[in-house]
Amino acid sequence: MDLQNLRLVDHHVHGAMKEPLDRAGFEKLITESDRPVPPWMSTFDSQLGFAVRKYCAPLLGLEPHASPDDYLAARSRQDANRIFLGAAGVSDYLVDTGHLADSLTDVGELAKLSGCRTHEVVRLEAELEYVATQESTAAAVPDALVRRLEERTAGAVGLKSIVAYRYGFDFDPAEPSPADVLSALDRWYATGAKRVADPVLLRWLLWTGARRGLPLQLHAGLGDTDLQLHKVNPALLTEWLRLVEPLGTQVVLLHCYPYHREAGYLAHVFPHVHLDLGLTTMYVGARAAAVLAEGLELAPFAKLLYSSDAWGPAELHYLGATVWRRAVTSVLGSFVDQGDWSPDDAARGATMWGRDNAVRLYRLS
Ligand SMILES: [Zn+2]
Repeated sequence: MDLQNLRLVDHHVHGAMKEPLDRAGFEKLITESDRPVPPWMSTFDSQLGFAVRKYCAPLLGLEPHASPDDYLAARSRQDANRIFLGAAGVSDYLVDTGHLADSLTDVGELAKLSGCRTHEVVRLEAELEYVATQESTAAAVPDALVRRLEERTAGAVGLKSIVAYRYGFDFDPAEPSPADVLSALDRWYATGAKRVADPVLLRWLLWTGARRGLPLQLHAGLGDTDLQLHKVNPALLTEWLRLVEPLGTQVVLLHCYPYHREAGYLAHVFPHVHLDLGLTTMYVGARAAAVLAEGLELAPFAKLLYSSDAWGPAELHYLGATVWRRAVTSVLGSFVDQGDWSPDDAARGATMWGRDNAVRLYRLS
């Protein structure tokens, strides 16, 4: 099976870094840790670091597995953004612009550099925090948020929540009452209304987002040091998923590792739940085939989505696609070799996962 010509839809991604990167800067961007890298180790000594040296070095004219110093030296002499974005084999990027966007290419710049179509996904928490900068009283926020989301989603294809990072999934699943929202807004305003982390406000945002009808992306499982891993098992969302099911809103679980099997179960039993192993795929590198195979256990194939979740170095936009293609070729190829899947079904499954499911879910033409 050859997936080289399958043009992927990368449905969860961020911009590429605008500034050049030295070795220390690059090392910080190939880890989910925000802590200084200890002087006795290198983040290149990881599955992702090895994958950069193996798959990205040849695009800079180096041998595979080039040393990190040779790699960064070659990188500094070339236009890495154009090289890696141009080689990813992606047709559409669905871009989350809500995270430290100033250092990254915006949606238009990403389109120009990659030659891809780009679409925006709007981050709920960032919109509430913006509304708070515009409204002097807490009481004005509920109506202002609805107006703001109407404006911001007019041209967007989806919404996204980072409740996993801000609180976790062990929140009261019921929609909060207007009175509860107002008193939570009052408390938030009394403390400066900056970073929203109040569980009542976060779940109000989730419900408000779910009511807009666009696909709603939710981070689960691994991520940066803001989260507590045991609180972001998507199984904790079960009751909330039951409660929002009648709204008909489609919920997309992102990342998921190490809870990708729980997420696969949720995608199996709930018609409105979808599964993506972005971020996970490139971080587990040479183990991607094993992890993606677990993602394929229970999730219906129409529920699988591809993403890189690249943020920063354009290597990550390229690697997400490259590691995914390699792992899917290996896993589905083994199903064919065992005689369990036909070659046609394997090709169709890969196309659903890498492209067709996202085109349908986000209504991309
Ligand atoms: Zn993500």
